[in-house]
Order: sequence, then C-alpha cells, then structure tokens
Amino acid sequence: MTDFPVEKIRADFPILKEKIRNKPLVYLDNAASCQKPQQVIDSIVYCYSHEYANVHRGVHTLSVKATDRYESAREKVKDFINAQSTKEIIFVRGATEAINLVAQTFGKANIKAGDEILITAMEHHSNIVPWQMLCQETGAVLKVAPIDLQGELIFAEFEKLISDKTKLISVVHMSNALGTINPVKKIIAAAKAKNIPVLLDGAQAIPHMSVDVQALDCDFYVFSGHKLYAPSGIGVLYGKQALLEAMPPYQGGGDMIRKVTFTETEYNVLPYKFEAGTPNIADVVGLGAAIDYLNEIGMDNIAAYEAELLAYATEKARQIKGLRIIGDNNNKGAILSFVLDKIHPHDIGTMLDSLGIAIRAGHHCAMPVMDFFEVPATARASFAMYNTKEEIDVLMAGIEDLIKIFG
Ligand code: PMP
Repeated sequence: MTDFPVEKIRADFPILKEKIRNKPLVYLDNAASCQKPQQVIDSIVYCYSHEYANVHRGVHTLSVKATDRYESAREKVKDFINAQSTKEIIFVRGATEAINLVAQTFGKANIKAGDEILITAMEHHSNIVPWQMLCQETGAVLKVAPIDLQGELIFAEFEKLISDKTKLISVVHMSNALGTINPVKKIIAAAKAKNIPVLLDGAQAIPHMSVDVQALDCDFYVFSGHKLYAPSGIGVLYGKQALLEAMPPYQGGGDMIRKVTFTETEYNVLPYKFEAGTPNIADVVGLGAAIDYLNEIGMDNIAAYEAELLAYATEKARQIKGLRIIGDNNNKGAILSFVLDKIHPHDIGTMLDSLGIAIRAGHHCAMPVMDFFEVPATARASFAMYNTKEEIDVLMAGIEDLIKIFG
C-alpha cells in the first residue's frame, strides 16, 4: 500500500531515531511492547503539568478536569471497541490483570468442582495460569483444544471439547508466539449455541485490526495499553454489562464503594465497582491519546499495511535455507516466529542486536507452544505500523549473514 503514510508516522515516534550500537534502530519487538508517539508522550506530560489531581473525589477545578479527562478516555475506549456503554469498560493494569479479575470474580461465582474451562494450546501463560489457579481452588478442570503443525486451532477438536460441563471458553484472538489469528466468530458461535460465555484475549489483536465487541458478541475482551502505542501499566477489561453487574467485586477499597459501615458495604455502580483505589490516571489519559492517534490513521489502513509487511517478510523468510517459520499459515497478524538450523534463538537475538535490530528470543510466555513444536525457544520479529520493507530487508540480510557465519 504505497499511500500508507509510514514516514509521517515514523516521524511521530522519537525513539525510532535512536542509534543502537551505532546503527539505526530497527525495532521489531512490537509484540512484547510497542513504542509511543509524541502525541501520547505529550498527553502524559500535559496531564502531570496542567491537569493532574485525584479523580472522582474533589470538587476543586483540577480534580474535575482530571476526572473529565479520565472519563473521556473511557468513552474513547468504548467507541474504539464498539462497546455498548462505558459501564462495560474497566481500567486495569493490563491483559494479565483483566484475566485474573475475571477468574477471581466471574470464575469463583460461577465455576465449581467438575466444571470445565476450555482454552487452546496456543495461549499465553496469562490465559493459562489464572485458570489453573481457579481450577486448583474450585476443583474445576482445564481443557485444552489442540493446534496443528501450521500453528492453527483444530476447530473440529475444539468443538468436540465443548460439553455441558463447559462454563467458560477463554481463547487468544491472535497468538503472540505464532501470530495466528483464531477463528473467533466460529468459536463464539459454537459457544453461544450452548450458552457458554467467551473471553477473548485481545492483547495482540488490538493493535493490528479493528475490534468490534458487539459484532463479535464476545462476553469479555481484554487488552493492554502498552501494545497499543499507549503507556504500560494500563489495560482494559471489556465485559457485557449484565455479566459485570452479576459479578462480585475484585478488590475492595476506595472508589468501588457507595456506602461503608463496619457491618456492611454497598458497592459502587459499574464500572467503578471494579476499580478500587486511585487509578492510573495519567496513563489512562495516554491510552485515550493513543486511540485518537490510531483513529486518525484508521485501523483498517493499519491492518492492510501490516498485512503487506507480513507477506513481504514471510516470502523472504521462506527463501532462506535453514530457516523454519513456526506457525506458517495464512491466518496471521504481523508476527514472524522462526528458528534457524544449528543457531540458538538467543544467539540470533544477540547477533541481530549488534546490527541494531531488536527482536525477541525466548518462549514468549507460551512454553506449551514451544513444547508442541519441540523447540526450546523461537526468534520472533513482530511488526508495527511504523515498520518498513527496508527494515525487513535489514533483518533478512542480518539473518543471512548469521547463517553464513555460524550455520
Ligand atoms: N496475552 C497475550 C496474547 C500476550 O501477548 C500478552 C503479552 N505478551 C498478554 C496476554 C499479557 O499482557 P500483559 O503482560 O500486558 O498483561
């Protein structure tokens, strides 16, 4: 897509001008965390410089301003994912906290011994461990739908695992270890046929495509700000209002209450019921600024541009002898996970770093995926809207050199 304004976008990200080991930075670790545009950085500086006070409490002008900014960011998130109401948008620390919140509230209230929770074999640890913890506490059972050697869910097997005992299905929208985008519409349709709520882990999907929670008809959707060009330490739990209303609170404290005596507490209305204590005010404002920024560019334009980047990188990678793509399929977001014959992924990461190229080497918090593919780790190049084909050329040349030297 030649008209995607990538150079203009790059100019908004100050860190992209950094030199790493005297080389221009080629930042391809966006699935771990992506960089922030000046607009987001400025919004945080502005907040602390001009509009900072605690929210929801004061009658004084600054507190009212801070509350306005905080709540208008909630409105932006609501529109960004097309939720029905701001009551359905809960600010949390990130995807991890959002999943733990659902496990500890919805899970404890609705899941008992013998019940089943269904996930897939490509989940991030944060969509495995909270359910394991819940299973240990309740006696419920965690079921895992298998994937194939292309790194895609085997849907027929997934369907077979849905039973009358299934009380929740929690699946990743886009895998961080493979890049695979799950057939979430089919998954949700199968779940709805049996009235089973579905949580989508959108940590990876959210920066790469437009997400419409009403069209998806998912019950919960979680994501982290730091992968969406927003600050770290802020994330979102979307939940359907009726479900959130019925769930007990997560943490107790200030802001989540309406009335407290020593004998009983009346909880606040949504979304405040789930936001105990002083929230991460400035980073919520930063998340709002990131959403404004993305809306200007358009999520569909970003998706189209990144699809081109991924296709370009995949084609080049397939030509490299000794390189194996882990998760080589056609339903992917902008992630290229790979291994090289005879070269450990950590060595790939270190060698590429000496060329100024930042990739991730490791298990990507998805150890069961590594076990399935029988690799200790993978090297992962993950692309963002500010990456270019020229950067992919630098990456591929770096890999070819590595193979020449060590392969
Ligand atoms: N799920 C997926 C698919 C992820 O990629 C990540 C982050 N790597 C998480 C959940 C957890 O996100 P966070 O660490 O921001 O809570």
